[in-house]
Amino acid sequence: AKVGGKNRSRFYDPAMSRTLIRRREIEHELRAAIQRDELSIFFQPIVDLESGRIRTFEALVRWFHPEKGELTPDEFIPVAEETGVIVTLGNWITAQAARAAVHWPDDVSLAVNLSPLQIKAPGAALGILSALREAGLDPSRLELEVTESLFLDDNHATAGFIEALSSAGVHFALDDFGTGYSSLGYIDRFPFRKIKVDRSFVSGPNVGRKSEAIIRAVAEMGAQLDMEIVAEGLETVDQVSAVRAAGCTLGQGYYFSRAVPDYLAAVLLAQERAT
Ligand code: C2E
Ligand code: CA
Ligand code: CA
Ligand code: CA
Repeated sequence: AKVGGKNRSRFYDPAMSRTLIRRREIEHELRAAIQRDELSIFFQPIVDLESGRIRTFEALVRWFHPEKGELTPDEFIPVAEETGVIVTLGNWITAQAARAAVHWPDDVSLAVNLSPLQIKAPGAALGILSALREAGLDPSRLELEVTESLFLDDNHATAGFIEALSSAGVHFALDDFGTGYSSLGYIDRFPFRKIKVDRSFVSGPNVGRKSEAIIRAVAEMGAQLDMEIVAEGLETVDQVSAVRAAGCTLGQGYYFSRAVPDYLAAVLLAQERAT
């Protein structure tokens, strides 16, 4: 197979090159996808494990490609990051999600995932605040989920971004906790309201006595520091009871609901409030 001058090689690896071609296609089409209305935001509830009530919806982006079908964010977010499209995409996601969230009761918050590259772009904090203002969503109802990779090159831009948004009332959650570079230093230095314990501690081949003890320790720390601990990836009732017993106050996962379109999120809230 021939894929054009630059990629021709005697050691041509068809699988590798298919990935490259797909990436290039995705990059190209991602820029057009927003305009073509192929992207949409889905919402997954984060539930109070005590009362069973929805406290937050996490915005998760979906791309319904006319030929390729549904693309998962794990496939195109990395491409968006490498190509810089993430800045435009990220602001669009925040704006869209905020537009849905204004229709929810005031005590239900909106969680949005932030890529490290988005934060480092100039005017990043203003971009988010103006998206909120346009949608009419109070900044205190937004919670930004960031991962530990954000703090790898701990620079002034990150600290400035977090400071600017915190003082406007926006909250922060530390996502995928336990998978990366877990340093307690970040928790000490930055004002996280929540820690989201990664799904790998809840389900999967390595889950057992050890992972339970880790969740318990994180939950204890959370209680001491006035942070809520969210258990991610809850799929079974046994997992829900286990993380509850370990001290997690919030849970998220298919056991409660998958991510759903905005109109279904509104239905879930209405049903809950009718009872
Ligand atoms: P994440 O932030 O850790 O989001 C949770 C992922 O776990 C979501 O996958 C969600 O659908 C999935 N999930 C939720 N409950 C369960 C469960 O019970 N079992 C299993 N197996 N999975 C569950 P999704 O939507 O495919 O997103 C994957 C990742 O892509 C996200 O991980 C996040 O890092 C990134 N992402 C998604 N949307 C956005 C976005 O709008 N902006 C940015 N920057 N990243 C996003
Ligand atoms: Ca997240
Ligand atoms: Ca996560
Ligand atoms: Ca993730």
